[in-house]
Amino acid sequence: MTPTLDEILAGAIPFAVPLRVPFRGLHVREGMLIKGPSGWGEFAPFDDYDNERAGRWLGAAIEASWGTWPVSIRDSIEVNAIIPDVDSSRAGLLARETIGECGCSTIKVKVGRSLADDEARVVAVRDALDSAGVDGKIRLDANALWSLDQAITSLRRLRSYGIEYVEQPCADLNDMVRLRSEIDIPVAADEVIRLSGDPESVNLTGLVDYAILKPMTLGGAHATLRVAQSVGVPVVVSGSLDTGVGLSTSLAAAASLADLPLASGLGTGTLFERDLTDPSVLPRDGRIAVRRYSPDLDSLLAAADASSDERATWWRERLGAAYASYERSASHRRVEG
Ligand SMILES: [Mg+2]
Repeated sequence: MTPTLDEILAGAIPFAVPLRVPFRGLHVREGMLIKGPSGWGEFAPFDDYDNERAGRWLGAAIEASWGTWPVSIRDSIEVNAIIPDVDSSRAGLLARETIGECGCSTIKVKVGRSLADDEARVVAVRDALDSAGVDGKIRLDANALWSLDQAITSLRRLRSYGIEYVEQPCADLNDMVRLRSEIDIPVAADEVIRLSGDPESVNLTGLVDYAILKPMTLGGAHATLRVAQSVGVPVVVSGSLDTGVGLSTSLAAAASLADLPLASGLGTGTLFERDLTDPSVLPRDGRIAVRRYSPDLDSLLAAADASSDERATWWRERLGAAYASYERSASHRRVEG
């Protein structure tokens, strides 16, 4: 069932939640929660997402609040923790915390701005894993910041720290393919999928080793299963700095995939000062339980209060623009049958 825009806006609450650590340049995560007959959904596209891509995010929110999720075949999901682009001492502190309190043994480290800083950050994380006696994995995410030459130089330097894979090292897929022939680190694609005009038509067979699938950016859990079918390589499910409400969709997607060979990128709850859900969606023993996480009323009221009238209006307008795009794509799917 497709709700009307008025029905969605009637149950939409803007939120602003402070982050403990700046991420993507953000200190506060903003978005809207929407309430429908199935429960809560989250609409929180980043500012650089255009209406078409924001429309897919809205599709994920509508699936959560008005629709259904695929059947789960797992009751918990192994997740990685994430270390943002912070200095090495902060990186070490965050890594020790997440290993000790959340039990994560796979840690994703953001890289790409300066090789010296990247290496210091990776060393700090490897030290934290080693000193905890954890045979852990480090995955890198460059968010397309490197040229091909920079990627080759950087990864030849960083490979000795034991790298599980590097995510979106370069913007251009052809550069990623060439890089893959130059280094012995597996390569994963993220932006080339989630920023694509049509993620369900992206096929990466023989081009990269893994596909990072972010359910909120693809249109929800069912859309994620479809992309996993068509993308042609093993997939890693990942979040989009979502509150526990949005993470529920990604957990549902991860829980329903037939093949889930690696830890999912869903341990981002540690980046929030306070989550909207109770319990908050933090890993324990490196895993998160699969369930629908709903907002806690006090946290939701505080987060709604923290969103200014001006931002609330901006988000309502953004949702309206995304809805127009969502409707176009939904009718496109109907026409195609
Ligand atoms: Mg990424």
